[in-house]
Amino acid sequence: MNLKKYQTQIASSNSSSELETLRIKLLGRKGLINQLFSEIKNQQPDNRQQYGQKLNKLKSQLQNLIKKQALKIAKQNKVPKETKITNSIFALPKIGHLHPITTTENQINSLFKKLGFSIYDGPEIETDEFCFERLNLPKDHPARELQDSIFIKEPEILLRTQTSSVEARLLSQEKPPFKVAFPGKVYRNEKVNKSNHFTFNQYQAVVVGKNMTLKNLFGTMDLMFKTLYGPNVTVRYRPKYYPEVEPGVGLDMQCFNCKEKGCAICKGAGWVEMGGAGIIHPIVLQKANIDPKKWSGFAFGMGLDRWTMAKYNIKDIRTFSGGNLAYLPNK
Ligand SMILES: [Zn+2]
Repeated sequence: MNLKKYQTQIASSNSSSELETLRIKLLGRKGLINQLFSEIKNQQPDNRQQYGQKLNKLKSQLQNLIKKQALKIAKQNKVPKETKITNSIFALPKIGHLHPITTTENQINSLFKKLGFSIYDGPEIETDEFCFERLNLPKDHPARELQDSIFIKEPEILLRTQTSSVEARLLSQEKPPFKVAFPGKVYRNEKVNKSNHFTFNQYQAVVVGKNMTLKNLFGTMDLMFKTLYGPNVTVRYRPKYYPEVEPGVGLDMQCFNCKEKGCAICKGAGWVEMGGAGIIHPIVLQKANIDPKKWSGFAFGMGLDRWTMAKYNIKDIRTFSGGNLAYLPNK
């Protein structure tokens, strides 16, 4: 029997079915090896043992060759097999979704990007200088009382109480003109209840350019409210004091829950305060080495949590840090 001939046949088998046919032909019950074994009786008695040994050797050689070839074919087939598995993973239904605050943040980000703003980020652990001093809030200023702080190392290092800290950093680094927006988490030592939390999210933006007025501010604010709540949203602007702006503006939206009738969320007022804004105080510009005679600007900040509550009609701020998955985006 010519082993070489079968060796070539085995090596040229490209599929497992082809190899199996060959295996049956050689090693099957009625296969070649068994036929040769049945001829043992026709051998000379002295020669039978040697004949049997030779055949056994041949049989195990063929078995090994077939085994090797089977592995080779399996390896070649591995690529399409893996592709199949990957495809089935992609086909699985999506589990989970973005947090509603992230969705709101993304929406506002994309609006401001369209308006030519850059999106910035800043540290959550901040120094007193950038959190207060540079924002016209010196150490003895009473407005500091409104932002009861969580200190890492008193009196200098704290968790930022407002994203205005990013504004202070920005003004000290960038040369005007610029338009920048910055969302972020802030921390205050507040009692947690339905509408207050010790950790919440702000969205802030700063524009510094030539001849910036309240008109520019109102136009931008209107666009932002309409983008999030539709063209029929009712907004009012009223004078309000913030140390880093002059004049300052309070941003109120008609209560999404009671539509101005008065309820627990708006504390009976019919309006919900959505944020604050104003023309950047000349002192703040001066502290950042920007000449207030040449440059002017406006800044605004709002509570992302309140904006998101209004959007999805969420009535308890604590829901955001809980595990309730009821508030699907686009709902
Ligand atoms: Zn209300």
